Amino acid sequence: MSTIIKHIQINLQGLIQGVGFRPFIYRLARQYQQNGWIANSESGVVIELEGEAVKQQDLISAMHKQLPPYAVIKSIKVKNLPISGYRGFSLKSSITGPNKSSFVLPDIATCQACVSELFDTDSRFYRYPFISCCHCGPRYSLMTAQPYDRSRTSMASFALCPSCLNEYRDPDNRRFHAQTLACEDCGPQLQLLDDQGALIAELDQALNLAVRALRQGKIVALKGIGGYQLLVDANNASAVAELRMRKNRAQKPFAIMMSSVDAAEHYCVISEQERQSLTSAAAPIVLLQRRHTSDAFESIAPGIALLGVMLPYSPLHHLLLNDFGGPVIASSGNRHHEPICINQTQALNQLQGIADCFLTHDREILRPLDDSIVRMIGSKITVMRRARGYVPEPAAMKQTMPDGVALGGHLKHTLAISRGNQVIISQHLGDMESLAAREQFQSTLKDMLDFFQVQPEQVMYDSHPGYYSSQYAAAMAIPAVPVQHHYAHILACMAEQGLRPPLLGIAWDGSGYGTEDELWGGEFLLIHDQGFERVAHFRSFCLPGGAKAIQEPRRAALGALYELLGESVFKLKHNPCLNAFSSHELKILQTAIQKRLNMPLTSSVGRCFDAVASLSGLCQINCYEGEAAMRLETAAGAVDSDLCYPFTLSGGQPRVIDWHLMLTAILHDYSSGQQALIPIKFHNTLAEIALAIAREVQQDHVVISGGCFQNACLVTLLQQRLEVNGFKLFQQQRIPPNDGGLALGQLVAAQYLKRS
Ligand code: ZN
Ligand code: ZN
Ligand code: FE
Repeated sequence: MSTIIKHIQINLQGLIQGVGFRPFIYRLARQYQQNGWIANSESGVVIELEGEAVKQQDLISAMHKQLPPYAVIKSIKVKNLPISGYRGFSLKSSITGPNKSSFVLPDIATCQACVSELFDTDSRFYRYPFISCCHCGPRYSLMTAQPYDRSRTSMASFALCPSCLNEYRDPDNRRFHAQTLACEDCGPQLQLLDDQGALIAELDQALNLAVRALRQGKIVALKGIGGYQLLVDANNASAVAELRMRKNRAQKPFAIMMSSVDAAEHYCVISEQERQSLTSAAAPIVLLQRRHTSDAFESIAPGIALLGVMLPYSPLHHLLLNDFGGPVIASSGNRHHEPICINQTQALNQLQGIADCFLTHDREILRPLDDSIVRMIGSKITVMRRARGYVPEPAAMKQTMPDGVALGGHLKHTLAISRGNQVIISQHLGDMESLAAREQFQSTLKDMLDFFQVQPEQVMYDSHPGYYSSQYAAAMAIPAVPVQHHYAHILACMAEQGLRPPLLGIAWDGSGYGTEDELWGGEFLLIHDQGFERVAHFRSFCLPGGAKAIQEPRRAALGALYELLGESVFKLKHNPCLNAFSSHELKILQTAIQKRLNMPLTSSVGRCFDAVASLSGLCQINCYEGEAAMRLETAAGAVDSDLCYPFTLSGGQPRVIDWHLMLTAILHDYSSGQQALIPIKFHNTLAEIALAIAREVQQDHVVISGGCFQNACLVTLLQQRLEVNGFKLFQQQRIPPNDGGLALGQLVAAQYLKRS
């Protein structure tokens, strides 16, 4: 039998740049005796093989079976070419071309092999805080452009020493063509600076002194992968209190970094899925259920049953945790409402008065990537804050889209761009309250358009006229299309789950622009091919003080009570909401309500959560966004009950969900000493309401989105009720259900709205 020689070209797309894919193919080519070459291209990876046809097939199946960790092949195309007589197999420099659908790798947590070397006294990388290999290390945070090559990263300024060069050139080495390769002789170095920026120590001594500072209860700012973090000893209550005071953060939970899953298991219950998340390449903060037996860390997440835990994800974190020997708080290195710092100048400016010292280095961070947050919601791991480790992994769309950009909302802000059949969503950018945050929004927009080479033909934005992003859209010199907030929420979930209309969307959140005189947030939307119909919503009530009511659950409660009782609300006795105001404050509010001054109406379920948290005595003033809802969820989780409150559906189209009976019953439960039951009964009632509307609308597919669905208790109850009754519930997982998902929904809206 004669052997058949063939020349084939393989085009691959997927997460295959920056994961050691080219060296991997190089080794396979030698193993299967193929000549040719491999190169990164802007659309993925191109391989040409010339050799025995049978062995080419063997190579391709071996490629699929033995993929390097973190590599994902999303598509493969093979074509035949005429024989060209290659000799040997080579790694070509990258091909640049017009194609635009590459996958850029997110930053990858340090791999096990590198961690072993880090603590191996015989390794030349022993205790080197910037060890990495083909399979791990920073990626998106240090790339200046595509495709991924050292010359286009912030490692370009570090020339490889002879030892590193040997490894870089050795096809049998784990660091063959590792673009972030560096060692103590040639790579970035650590420095410790005092609070004024003066050099205290370098190299290992810098690390030693930083660890000593932590032991002394000091606050250490550490330059990590996607920005600075503020670290303190998690077991030192006064150090934690000091950080709270200096960061102006009275109650908001802190994330905690622990050395291992085993260490975390001591304090938290960890499911298999949560374990996988913790140890994944993305290494996010995972919100874990705290063990009832453990009172430790109460001051880290006051009143909340969850603890945000992450594992060390860079060699520097591994060294620090190892030397320190205990868990540390790892909070974002920023000032309240300001973006996370990524360079020394920003850090010294912004974190002055917060950090006692700065553990920093000379490898540049090119874009801010905060730690991501995930949580188990309704048996699925759901991303709640999407940044380091996930961005810029694209969302694949079923259809090709024009080049476009979406500017998102206002809180938990993200942007998104579309090109071809991909949507790329920016990292979490935080709230757009401060000037610095708005500048970051502009620089991120520019960065994304440049990096992914997108020239948008149109811009999508939230229909709220007051949002900064909406005003910015109007000023861009391209067609601007507004998208209703809750419609965008539902479309984001549909896009992620690959769903088409018609279906029922349930969008519950804090608030979003509805009409000129009403904020929405308790919406049932029938989604069809040309947009949506608002088929049902919660009965609206007024929010005394407008924006102030978002911070003060007692105001939402007062607004709801006023809707129920009118003027007699001010005569209520022994009511936790009324008791939370001084008589002077109540007098002012009474006049304001009578005159309807600064008294917007809302149908928001988020504000219902606030009202119920106030009326059950759990939270009167939010110290951070969502506190009341989180406390209510925690309290609901502590009680096992199927009891519900009564509610009625009124109106024709749209249907109005009337909560008057529920509110009366809640007042009764409180006054009769049954307040512990209120949170779970409220959650059960919301699930019953969703079911009642789903039954009326009669769409098999029900999609949920919006900030309220970050509540695992609520999602689980809804899921049980709907699925038992034959509905299929869809929730987001990879893109946050909160306003971080709006930009994706807005881009998708372009497809539906243009037809109307
Ligand atoms: Zn590695
Ligand atoms: Zn070196
Ligand atoms: Fe929202």
